Amino acid sequence: MKPGVLDSLIDQIGKDRVHTDPDTLDERRFDYWVVAHLRDWRGEELARPGVVVRPRSVADVQAIVRIANESKTPLVPFGLGSGVCGGIQPDPSVILVDLGAMNRVREIDETNLLASFDAGTNGLEAEEAVAARGLTIGHWPQSIAISSVGGWISTRAAGQFSTAYGNIEDIVYSIEAVLPDGDLVQLGKAPRAAAGPDLRHLLLGAEGTMGIVTGATLKLRRQPEERAFSAWYTPTLAAGFEAQRAIVQADWLPPVMRQYDASEVGRNFRDVTADTAGDRGLLLMVHEGPAGRVAAEIEAVGDLVRREGLEPAPPEVGPHWMERRNHVPSWRQLFEGHLVADTIEVSAPWTRILPLYEEAVASLREREDVVVASAHSSHVYRTGINLYFTFVARHDDPNDMETAYLDCWRRVMEATTRHGGGVAHHHGAGRLRKPYLVHDLGENGIALLRRIKNAVDPHGLMNPGNLIPDASVT
Ligand SMILES: Cc1cc2nc3c(=O)[nH]c(=O)nc-3n(C[C@H](O)[C@H](O)[C@H](O)COP(=O)(O)OP(=O)(O)OC[C@H]3O[C@@H](n4cnc5c(N)ncnc54)[C@H](O)[C@@H]3O)c2cc1C
Repeated sequence: MKPGVLDSLIDQIGKDRVHTDPDTLDERRFDYWVVAHLRDWRGEELARPGVVVRPRSVADVQAIVRIANESKTPLVPFGLGSGVCGGIQPDPSVILVDLGAMNRVREIDETNLLASFDAGTNGLEAEEAVAARGLTIGHWPQSIAISSVGGWISTRAAGQFSTAYGNIEDIVYSIEAVLPDGDLVQLGKAPRAAAGPDLRHLLLGAEGTMGIVTGATLKLRRQPEERAFSAWYTPTLAAGFEAQRAIVQADWLPPVMRQYDASEVGRNFRDVTADTAGDRGLLLMVHEGPAGRVAAEIEAVGDLVRREGLEPAPPEVGPHWMERRNHVPSWRQLFEGHLVADTIEVSAPWTRILPLYEEAVASLREREDVVVASAHSSHVYRTGINLYFTFVARHDDPNDMETAYLDCWRRVMEATTRHGGGVAHHHGAGRLRKPYLVHDLGENGIALLRRIKNAVDPHGLMNPGNLIPDASVT
């Protein structure tokens, strides 16, 4: 840390908000990325930030950013640390800005259906605050209880109910952020605008590289009057995709629509399907809406899926998923069992999704150490669909786990690219996907991203090393 920086932080933010004790620094060394946890578990010494600062207000954040700017000190924003792509990897030169203490629900506007939050507000607490008024944000990432509103924006998150309610970019109304020079911007002020480029997108998915999100206003909806489930066995994945395409292209929008391959049915739904599934896949849906619409949707969707050869699955499937859907795995428990695992989410147009799935799973299975290679889809669009791969590799030597992990990632990224898919559906890029971004953006897109970054953050102080590739990758 450069001389004088700590004193300036203490002077302007307060001694009780500026932490240099080893325990606090240790806690903020990394996010949820498997590789960081693996290295830590192996006993590698991972770098700590120079200081952890916990602002309480927008003015605090501005003061921190100005101190960083004057002293040319790098800054790493930290929401709740559930990011899974290595977006947080500070070193001793860094001020880590922990937004967890900025956690106020600022306002709930029941007429315009808007709610404003500090960026560090825990996702579940945000949802519970509006639920108490009969409203919902409708954004349910599996990590809702361990992620923040600012983190959702910064990673372009997607929730489990996205097929009807949209991803975070559809739910955000306005974003308040402190730019790398300390200026405050408020982007978005009306239901829609044709007032130049939508600058909210500079922050959406920026993963801390363009500024610090300090607050956001999210769009709300009234809680649905009814909720019901339906579930169908799919004879093949191809038939399941066709059924899903028929449903969304007919404009039916069950908020949750998830298709599991046979391997995942065996692992995740054994309790409720063991006697009936055989080697079939599963399509489960959650239907929500005003009284009347839900029943009509279930009937119409049933007609569509039967035409593709799907057959009814046990009614317990939906409630079974609903109850267990937010189970969070412990990487360390897996490491102790000599296993390394991860999930990889990608997306592709309808015409390309099946070959993408087949090649990615076949490529993972070429590795003798891979004991699980499977996928489900969980976010559906008129134009295509996502896939969420799971892989598990087994190794007795912890050093081999990281090599296996990175090779599994490479295989899925390459299969995705070869079939014209997008390499990141909703977890962001971080350090893990940075080398693959060129496949989505192209060389000129990467150059444009760098130009924007240089203009917004000319001294390169915001989360250096994250997201933005320094050199082209082929
Ligand atoms: C078990 C599990 C399940 C998950 N399920 C989902 C899911 O269903 N859908 C989904 O989209 N994601 C999911 N994720 C990934 C993760 O929860 C999301 O990426 C989440 O949005 C990150 O929020 P966070 O507050 O934890 O951010 P962090 O991990 O703290 O930060 C993520 C990145 O954003 C930056 N950042 C954070 N806050 C700010 C801010 N206020 N201003 C500027 N930059 C900031 C950080 O520097 C970092 O680069 C899951 C993760 C886990 C561990």
